[in-house]
Amino acid sequence: MLHRELFYRHLGQTSPEPLAFEVERAEGVWLFGPAEPPSDPAGSATTPLSAGIPADQAHPRRRKVLDLIAGIAVSGLGHGHPKVLEAIRRQADRYLHTMVYGEFIQAPQVLLAEKLCSLLPDPLDSVFWVNSGSEAVEAALKLAKRATGRTGLASFHRSYHGATHGALSMGGTESWKAPFRPLLPDTHLLPYGEDAALDLLCTDMAAVLVEPVQGEAGVRVPPDGWLQRLRARCDALGILLIFDEAQTGCGRTGVWFAQAHSGVVPDIMVTAKAIGGGLPLGGFAASRDLMRCLTHDPVLGHISTFGGHPLSCAAGLASLEALSAEGLLDRVKPLEARFREGLQDAPGVQDIRSCGLMMAVQLGSWDHNKAVIDRVLQAGILTDWFLYCDDALRIAPPLILTDAEADWAIGVLREALAAEMASR
Ligand code: PMP
Repeated sequence: MLHRELFYRHLGQTSPEPLAFEVERAEGVWLFGPAEPPSDPAGSATTPLSAGIPADQAHPRRRKVLDLIAGIAVSGLGHGHPKVLEAIRRQADRYLHTMVYGEFIQAPQVLLAEKLCSLLPDPLDSVFWVNSGSEAVEAALKLAKRATGRTGLASFHRSYHGATHGALSMGGTESWKAPFRPLLPDTHLLPYGEDAALDLLCTDMAAVLVEPVQGEAGVRVPPDGWLQRLRARCDALGILLIFDEAQTGCGRTGVWFAQAHSGVVPDIMVTAKAIGGGLPLGGFAASRDLMRCLTHDPVLGHISTFGGHPLSCAAGLASLEALSAEGLLDRVKPLEARFREGLQDAPGVQDIRSCGLMMAVQLGSWDHNKAVIDRVLQAGILTDWFLYCDDALRIAPPLILTDAEADWAIGVLREALAAEMASR
């Protein structure tokens, strides 16, 4: 590989065993690696790649991998969508960074905010742009503390809200937090999806932060009516309800934002991941009245140099427009059903949890899951596990996946699952 050695020597690593797939190009649902070196001394251009891995048609020696996780729920439109690239180029010709967030009028920020608000229920009509999901969570928590004058913050077991100190404080898995303590004080973890959680809320709390469908916990959908009861309890106690839609947003669950499944309207909604169309962007939406708290006592209640970068906002707007124009939200339910049907009786599958194209295939153990993930990668498909559920396999493809590509992926997954069970 061209950069493997430098990757290990100079790049801060996050895992003892990174996937270390070198990506040279990405297009649609496919990731392409660099050309494989010839395995025979003569260097025949037709030397086959490892068995099972599909090769790039144009370059038969290039490894081609189906991206079945969309950069972890980012690339809903796939990679390199022409409308997104065109919007980035057009914006790059006009200006890049000119001034810190909030001081200048920058059309891409304004237009993306208008578009996002048009997809959200009243009274969410004001957006603050930052750079990532973690940063949006941090700022949303600050807004809730500032608006209520309270300090308590509640979140849920196995929730994931990001890796910065405040967002990590709200995370639901102690082993990921313990080495970094002390974290934020006055945080409280409640049981997700359980009515017992409602009794643990109190008037000292500024906010409850919740994923309307838990992502990194391995796709957990709360019971019907629970989010409504949570909303009512927050209203009764004067607590602000924050939905973290970093992962569930931008059509991934078949609606624009997962709040639409329950009809519950949060006070603050966090967005990230797919909202930037493949460029870094996060944001949070609230009513204008609530958002105004950040303008006084103190002024500049939240600030960011790069928040809402014009390139990211231009890409995000093009991406939301293309998702609409191509009717891709309508693809989500049929594709979900196709995967569920194709995999439910596959060897070793204990359960499939899903909400649209957020899917978790529950296997028996981490070892089992990792072995299947390795097998399918060898066969040309990228999948993954979940941060807080390492015994379930992640399926979160771009929404542009065709039925034929889905059927091929299901076939490869079934073969890998069968081969792994046979070897146990
Ligand atoms: N919230 C949720 C629900 C997430 O899934 C993630 C990322 N996996 C984050 C927040 C953090 O986003 P980022 O990595 O952009 O900081």
